[in-house]
Amino acid sequence: MISAGWGVGSSPGAGGRAGTYDGGVTDLRTGKRVLLAKPRGYCAGVDRAVQTVEEALKLYGAPIYVRKQIVHNKHVVQTLEAQGAIFVEENEEVPEGATVIFSAHGVAPEVYEQARERSLKAIDATCPLVTKVHQEAKRFAAEDYDILLIGHEGHEEVIGTAGEAPAHIQLVDGPDGVDKITVRDPEKVVWLSQTTLSVDETLETVARLKTRLPLLQSPPSDDICYATSNRQHVVKEIAPECDVVIVVGSTNSSNSVRLVEVALDAGARAGHLVDFAHEIDDAWLADARTVGVSSGASVPEDLVNDVLTHLAARGFDDVEEITTANERLTFSLPQELKRDMKAAASRG
Ligand code: SF4
Repeated sequence: MISAGWGVGSSPGAGGRAGTYDGGVTDLRTGKRVLLAKPRGYCAGVDRAVQTVEEALKLYGAPIYVRKQIVHNKHVVQTLEAQGAIFVEENEEVPEGATVIFSAHGVAPEVYEQARERSLKAIDATCPLVTKVHQEAKRFAAEDYDILLIGHEGHEEVIGTAGEAPAHIQLVDGPDGVDKITVRDPEKVVWLSQTTLSVDETLETVARLKTRLPLLQSPPSDDICYATSNRQHVVKEIAPECDVVIVVGSTNSSNSVRLVEVALDAGARAGHLVDFAHEIDDAWLADARTVGVSSGASVPEDLVNDVLTHLAARGFDDVEEITTANERLTFSLPQELKRDMKAAASRG
């Protein structure tokens, strides 16, 4: 994992206390250093979704159709395309009877219905933590609540969740969206959220909602997922030390975009999102001593290693990894795929 040209040290933070950073080891020759955020990169839901496509390709053979980008990362999509995945926007682009995989962001119930009508073999790679929010939406709608879904308009996850109970759900797109909402009964309202939002901005939105709706109920457990909040937390820790924070991720990746915003809010002098190392502009580094590096939840570690190698070639070869949490969560593959894998294995 350590590339030629740079070396990495590791720190849990000051005095070994996870979550606090007291300054890293600066390269005395150049004064340049990298603070590498951990956790970063792949989360359990992305890992499962990518594996789902890979295993489906092995089991059924190419082509395998995938509705929407399986995860929001250019490199991942290109790699799976090279292996035989075909990405489509809607089920109607999939030939009747073919296999289609639904992305990690989740789909509305009508998408399953369309797949049934076209006799598609559907495999659902929706992250279980997104499914959890769908279940909450269904439950509160069944109890006739008004549901305020905090999220970004047009994001696939929001479209999927809202599709579970369109008559009950209103979108609240950040603190500025609060004034637009109307509810039937202020005593029977709950908020839910997209899984990949800024934790701080969501708290601000909820606080504003509560000034209008003091009896607003909260979700039974956090909707912003562990991976989103962990990646934001460590970026917040390193940002005040950084002249520039580089986040590896795609522009359509909500959690990656949020990491740049969080870095800037927490005190980084500059922040940039890049898909690939070659997109780093030397001008960003011209006056920098400390560069922070992180990556969104849909980003493979190879791309981060490319960035570290790129930085090392420009004198930033002293890398300290700052760890604020260790993640061990994994999700098993979708049932429908596991069943077919088992059947194939038993046939030998
Ligand atoms: S970012 Fe969170 S909700 Fe999205 S796939 Fe990863 S674990 Fe699941």
